[in-house]
Amino acid sequence: MAKKKKNLLEKVRNIGIAAHVDAGKTTLTERILYYTGANYKIGEVHHGEAHMDYMAEEQEHGITISAAVTKCPWKEHLIQIVDTPGHVDFTIEVERSMRVLDGAVLVLDAVRGVEPQTETVWRQASKFELPTLFFINKMDRAGASFERAMETIKKRFNVEPVPVCVPLADRVIHLINKKTLRFSGDQGSEVTETNVSDADWEQVAEHRESLLLAVAEYDEEIAEIVMEEEEPDPAMLWKVLQKVTKKRELFPVFGGTALRNIGVQPLLNAIITLLPSPVEIGPSLGTTIDGETVELQPNPKGPLALIAFKVQLFDGRRHVFARVYRGTLKPGDKIYNATQKITERVARIFDVDAGKKVRLKEATAGQIVLLAGLRHASTGDTLCDPKHPLLLAPIVARNPVLGLAIESVSSKDEEKLFEVLARLQEEDPTLLLEEDEETGQRVLRGMGELHLQIVFERLEREFNLELRAGKPAVVTREAIKKEATSRVLFDRVIQSPEGGIEMKAGVTVTVRPLKRGSDVKIVFEPIVLPPETLLTSAQKDAVQGGAADAASTGPVHGATLEDCEVIIEKIETFGRASNTSALRAATAEAVRKALSEAGSVLLQPIMSTEVVVSEEFFGSILGDLQARGAIIRETSTSLQITTIRCEVPLRNLLGYTTQLRSMTKGSGQFTMEFIRFDAS
Ligand code: GDP
Ligand code: MG
Repeated sequence: MAKKKKNLLEKVRNIGIAAHVDAGKTTLTERILYYTGANYKIGEVHHGEAHMDYMAEEQEHGITISAAVTKCPWKEHLIQIVDTPGHVDFTIEVERSMRVLDGAVLVLDAVRGVEPQTETVWRQASKFELPTLFFINKMDRAGASFERAMETIKKRFNVEPVPVCVPLADRVIHLINKKTLRFSGDQGSEVTETNVSDADWEQVAEHRESLLLAVAEYDEEIAEIVMEEEEPDPAMLWKVLQKVTKKRELFPVFGGTALRNIGVQPLLNAIITLLPSPVEIGPSLGTTIDGETVELQPNPKGPLALIAFKVQLFDGRRHVFARVYRGTLKPGDKIYNATQKITERVARIFDVDAGKKVRLKEATAGQIVLLAGLRHASTGDTLCDPKHPLLLAPIVARNPVLGLAIESVSSKDEEKLFEVLARLQEEDPTLLLEEDEETGQRVLRGMGELHLQIVFERLEREFNLELRAGKPAVVTREAIKKEATSRVLFDRVIQSPEGGIEMKAGVTVTVRPLKRGSDVKIVFEPIVLPPETLLTSAQKDAVQGGAADAASTGPVHGATLEDCEVIIEKIETFGRASNTSALRAATAEAVRKALSEAGSVLLQPIMSTEVVVSEEFFGSILGDLQARGAIIRETSTSLQITTIRCEVPLRNLLGYTTQLRSMTKGSGQFTMEFIRFDAS
């Protein structure tokens, strides 16, 4: 049984398609769905015979799934496309998908080449070491150039792109199979292969040469054949190319136009030939409870380990998308959530397929499944065998640094608004609803203006809420300027029916600035007076609690305090008068006093920003960025396009999208990503 499953998984490819906005991701995906759906019989590949009967009984209908995973059967294989949204405000979405992929296809616009968000997704794909294919789309556009787009890959990513399918007008030339491919029939679904004409071969000869030379560098046998000016066998080329693509030594490139139905099928063929299956990807890394690094083989018999990568509500019920990395999961299994340190039970396991949930008897290493019954598991959590606790590399959620006050126009909608927002927050960990303690306003926090705007529009359109929003406001933090020490002697008599109760305690604390990006740390190693006094654990908790309370907000602006160490130096006790209330009050007051002596700096979110403009606008854009307080890190120009990389405080970037457009006649683009809180 297990063996059979393993064989099935060898035919699965978990991939993501990513691109800069407008490069043609949606169009390409639609074509892929069309071509793969044309001869799609449910269960054909993935489920195999073993699952067939079972499935028919258990199918559940009528559930719309805005699929996080789309299944595309192609030539005895199953390509599972994990959705990755495009805009940088939603990097978390991209990142959590990338985390569970085994390979990626990056789509480029043949006129524009590599664009800012192509770089972002490239960085993410690199972070997870995903083997990557490039599809150079829009070859029908005026000004399109396959060569130049490849050149931008080489320059910007500093890797070697190797051409495999070169587009020529209405056809593509396959450099490995040495065939001309033409696309006809419904949406180009029929592919005709012919021998390449001499004229065409001459046009692509240089590309074929660079393919051969690139591959030859990784294989002795091919190197010799190439040296002798002989022709290596296509099967041999495929084999070596597969090996080096998996190792990210070479990056195969395909060209075409999704809109005109040219060049998509050879890309599909390459996905199953060149990108690895879940069993081929090799071990993934985890950390044991003792901090030891372990390798996890994708073995269905090993102790269970999976990662939750998306939470979504279907029919109002909480479902968790997860990828199994090791072991076999069965419905009813108790699993340990090593991230949250809780144990919960998986009620049902589903396969998600074309809008339907299909119940499964089990899920094994390599599979991506939907789980029901988990009340706590959220994005990025590691779920594992309670007897073998470990943590897989987490999905890093970003800090939502922009806030928007939000309220419903009619007070009767208020409850609905909070219900809906609670739901949206479940699905999107970069969205956060908070109450401003001072004003009582509800503030919705997100990653950027576009992110908040889209959430806002969804609330209005999808959920029929009429809303009022404030101006976007940047989230700030506070830190202290210098070290300060203070002692407070708390001494008070509280009246009670039984008479006066004396409360007395002395506490001395020091506060000290830490480097940027640190939290608040409380150091508890006090001298206790009189000597030989032993504090009870309730008394220790009272002191630490008082310190933590007082150190949660900064002394001047009341923003969350950061980068600060609070050292409890001395505790003076006075017998029974030093009860927990007295100790707590004395500590809190001592910390507040020390913080206020230490002085305050307001910290702003600083964004790593990249602006891409045509060379002619470089001067004016650079000047404008400097006026916004940008620290310029790097500028580079290639092919008349200038890229400026800089760090800018977020508050100076509000409205920048509009400003940049008007300064560049609509052509300028920019992306930003939160890096740290800092004084600005
Ligand atoms: P996405 O933002 O990456 O998902 O891009 P879309 O697939 O939505 O495409 C953006 C625009 O480019 C749409 O208007 C498409 O019709 C168009 N488009 C997509 N592929 C091609 C292509 O191959 N050639 C041309 N000329 N336009 C294309
Ligand atoms: Mg799209």
